[in-house]
Amino acid sequence: MAETLRSHGASHVHCVGSVADFLSAGAVPPAPVRLWDVAVWDTGISGDDASLTALLDQWRTGVPGAPVVVSDEAPSTRRAMAALRGRAADMVERGDPDGLVAAVARVLENRADPLRVEGARQAGPRMLVVGAHPDDVEIGAGGIIHRRAHGGWGITILTLSGGANGGDPDRRREEAHRAAEVLGAHLIMENLPDGSISDDSATVRTIERAVAEVDPDVVLVHSESDTHQDHRAVHRATLVASRQVARLACYQSPSATVAYQPNRFVELSEADLEAKLSAIGAHNSQAASRWYLEEELLRSTARYWGRFSRTRYAEPLELVHDNTPLGYYPADHA
Ligand SMILES: [Zn+2]
Repeated sequence: MAETLRSHGASHVHCVGSVADFLSAGAVPPAPVRLWDVAVWDTGISGDDASLTALLDQWRTGVPGAPVVVSDEAPSTRRAMAALRGRAADMVERGDPDGLVAAVARVLENRADPLRVEGARQAGPRMLVVGAHPDDVEIGAGGIIHRRAHGGWGITILTLSGGANGGDPDRRREEAHRAAEVLGAHLIMENLPDGSISDDSATVRTIERAVAEVDPDVVLVHSESDTHQDHRAVHRATLVASRQVARLACYQSPSATVAYQPNRFVELSEADLEAKLSAIGAHNSQAASRWYLEEELLRSTARYWGRFSRTRYAEPLELVHDNTPLGYYPADHA
């Protein structure tokens, strides 16, 4: 299997022989791999259908964003159902190298290209999404980012602090890159002081640099109606730094107050919501300690906002200014 993948251009293939090794190599890839592109799990190594689903669930939690192709001796309907329940990306027959290569290629093709906004101006619209801390943007607008990245928009996330108050900055940086990759966005990470970000000229200049680099059509940021001092400061500094940008809107953070008044609701598909959850899952150093990262809450919040767009799921936006001519954007926009 490894030889087949190498002969088709895989630069690093790492083989393991047990569930424990699979999960630990997934979470901490051996150098020089930074993030895995895809995993292949062979059911011959261990387990019945129930444990296959459990393993895939565990993988998704530990290594969000890296899809799994399941290889099986003779895939049965029950085995395929177990793989589906665990959200495997595909299932192939063991001993069919062409099938394996085709499945892996399909999976990689379906992933968003995180580097799409680097370099020259893109043909599609561009959006800059600004957050104070790692995971703010994913919680507030993860679904919108995924939806638009897959609709041809170039998306850049600007995170202004490394989130040192929430854990080890190196780990949080890694998690932030993984999350951006899951959503199909490019990430710029700055190093302002977590907990005491101000709305002074230094913060404005930091955001202006990103605005100049991205040249966005739309900027999303925290709302002013928020109990977190960093979020309010980032909102104000972004208002100033984005004064030339055609459109600015605010996403909802868990610390938003009831004064947050959304007036746009962006429809999310199941895939957008799954990608959002997966991106938030990438911040797994936070999962245990943050009540607002509970999956049920995130799902039901998206379901709730769906009532305003008459769709199943939505994310809300509070549009602050809009200088764009009518009809400028494709149908799906805020
Ligand atoms: Zn925050």
